[in-house]
Amino acid sequence: MKISGIIYDLDDTLISRDEAFYSGFTRKFYEKFIDKAQFDFDIFFKIMKSADKKTKWSPEKENLFNELRKNFNLKEDNKFYVDFFWDSIVNSVKPDIEANNHLEQLNEINFPWGVLTNGYKYQHEKMIRSGVGKLAPFYIVSGDFGCHKPCKEVFIEASKKIELACEEILFVGDTAETDIIGAKSVGMKTAWVKMGRDYPLKDKPDYEINHVKELGSILNLF
Ligand SMILES: [Mg+2]
Repeated sequence: MKISGIIYDLDDTLISRDEAFYSGFTRKFYEKFIDKAQFDFDIFFKIMKSADKKTKWSPEKENLFNELRKNFNLKEDNKFYVDFFWDSIVNSVKPDIEANNHLEQLNEINFPWGVLTNGYKYQHEKMIRSGVGKLAPFYIVSGDFGCHKPCKEVFIEASKKIELACEEILFVGDTAETDIIGAKSVGMKTAWVKMGRDYPLKDKPDYEINHVKELGSILNLF
């Protein structure tokens, strides 16, 4: 299979969104909004983990808070918590040094690549804080474009930006339902970031990887 370019998802592919979610947002949310007499941190953490599992694929974060409201009495409206969510996540994003080294190596050999991320304005800030923004030849934020992965149009847009046919592009992402299904629907090759999980759907990706740094040798690039 000939791969001439790579498009990456951002969260949990080039940066650890989960680390920002759990060490940033989850802790701050507990400190500020949860009645500690009623819920100790471990119980709260379990509920948060299950709510996140149900809603993390969606760029609409109100879903997370609707889920949390089933267990917790949250006094403010969803918009308030969604803003709090993004502020704390964005402030907790750190560069993934190994991922950035991998991207720098691509740049050294002039290998075409870019980023396609679901979400809205906060994704721009994550690109900056992670250091990916200054490395990336281009990136697309789905909310700016007008439809989110897995919609075909946003993948087609990415293929235009990278100036390659979909069949020559490898799409790399951690979410089967958005990244892998969407990329397959336009004929891109796919690599799924496992994060300790088994692939949840029948139609498997071309590659399963633990970290993007593995792609250099998998694709015989460097
Ligand atoms: Mg992701």
